[in-house]
Amino acid sequence: MKLLETSVRASEGIAVGRAFVVNRCTASDSYQKGTVEQEHTRFAQALTLSREQIEPLATDSDIFAAHLEIVDDPMLSDAVTAHIDEDMSALEAVATASEELVAMFEAIDDEYLAARAADVKDIFARIAANLTGGVKNPFEGVAEGDIIVDSELYPSDMALLDFTKIRGFVTAEGSATSHVCIVARNLSVPAVVGLKGVLEQVKSGDSLIVDGSEGRVVVDPDIATLDEYRVRELNYKALQAEQKQSATTEIFRNGERIYVFANAGSVEDVERAMAAGADGIGLFRSEFLYMQSATEPTEQQQYEAYAAAARACNGKPLIIRTLDIGGDKAVPYLGFAKEENPFLGWRAIRVCLECREMFCRQLRAILRASAEGDVRVMFPMVVELEELETAKNLLEQCKQELDNQGIAYNRNIKVGVMIETPAAVLIADILAANCDFFSIGTNDLVQYVMAADRANAKVSNLYNPYSKAVLRAIEMVIFAADRAGIECGMCGELASDSEATELLLGMHLREYSVNIGAVGKIKYELNKITN
Ligand code: PEP
Ligand code: MG
Repeated sequence: MKLLETSVRASEGIAVGRAFVVNRCTASDSYQKGTVEQEHTRFAQALTLSREQIEPLATDSDIFAAHLEIVDDPMLSDAVTAHIDEDMSALEAVATASEELVAMFEAIDDEYLAARAADVKDIFARIAANLTGGVKNPFEGVAEGDIIVDSELYPSDMALLDFTKIRGFVTAEGSATSHVCIVARNLSVPAVVGLKGVLEQVKSGDSLIVDGSEGRVVVDPDIATLDEYRVRELNYKALQAEQKQSATTEIFRNGERIYVFANAGSVEDVERAMAAGADGIGLFRSEFLYMQSATEPTEQQQYEAYAAAARACNGKPLIIRTLDIGGDKAVPYLGFAKEENPFLGWRAIRVCLECREMFCRQLRAILRASAEGDVRVMFPMVVELEELETAKNLLEQCKQELDNQGIAYNRNIKVGVMIETPAAVLIADILAANCDFFSIGTNDLVQYVMAADRANAKVSNLYNPYSKAVLRAIEMVIFAADRAGIECGMCGELASDSEATELLLGMHLREYSVNIGAVGKIKYELNKITN
């Protein structure tokens, strides 16, 4: 019996089954390099073939629709052809360009966008396979009760994997925000990812236990361990069934409605959140639109995305956060200079108030989408009343422009502020008198209150949302909101932590905006407390 563990939490649940180790051998060893011209032609053919393979799948799948956009992005073909011009074979050029572009995505300090590196990798792997004899289904032969073990699973594998057959999966690479994990969580398939060395420890046919809740894999378990996990599996399934039932309930406490919203980073996320029973979207991270493209998205493109998200909400609230970049989240076309202290630098609302034309394009797009549902707008990283006032004045200007053009929007669109800095906490009463709602961003608030970088493992003991200072700050914000009679939610990670629910409810928090996968869990917890 061997025990393997990782700190990454991919998809909760317990699975007991047989290992199916995926073989992704390609014919790359027999690839013969031709002239530069021939290599260009081979690459062009492989690219066209890849496009042809993806296109029919894109109509029914968001993953493949995104792949189609990437395949058509000149950034991809330019990177490969430049390497072929440097005298690489098409296969080497594809591998090198893949490494470069994947590294570029992974360097983005945004979990969601960094996870899109997997899509880029996936597409390059397809092109490479097409250069060396075609794409094969690596899951051929998977049987009922198998647990997939692989170095990494790609987004396009989702279309090939039969989730009704497999019990779970384990990968050596990958992050908790990869498509594969998102799908696994939505389908409640237990998974462990980022388990280095797993391929050396497991062979096909081995008996496996996957404990996705603890990030643990047991290889060849003894009878006592198997029994223990079978009981845990049953208990987990019973809890899950209860949580699922909770997801559709409306929660009240002393006659007041308690909402469980979800955080979303794309229109697809909004759809998933609604399917999971969310009461609305408490944080729509708009930066994905800016970071996924080589130039600023147009007002029309933004409008289409926001309007689609609003329609997917079907009348429930959609809180769109205006562009929150800076810090480590750079957008190359905005010309960010290197900063000594990026988290204390040119970020979020500070960027928007300087790049006003760009900001107004976004505000107009949000206003236009407000004709399609209960759209609300929220400003990040506010530290002074003047910032909020300027942003609101710009919003009014945009309304005027839309009026002049006869374009519909919600004149009474609600305006909110993210409370994620100590400054905002300290002037919460002043801000509350000038906006319609707050949303507490604990991810940043904890780092600024505790002076501890949210991404630095060395100070992770200080980065503690349960520290007295942070809890006091949260309490002060909710109190200020209550006094002013405005709504107050929380969209930082703390809202998704069921161990904090009772404490937060005790502080009178009535809107929890959580990870999509945590909607059922938090509603279940709230139901338990309020009933
Ligand atoms: C936060 O800071 O809590 C938050 C939700 O924003 P982000 O994690 O996108 O910075
Ligand atoms: Mg933040």
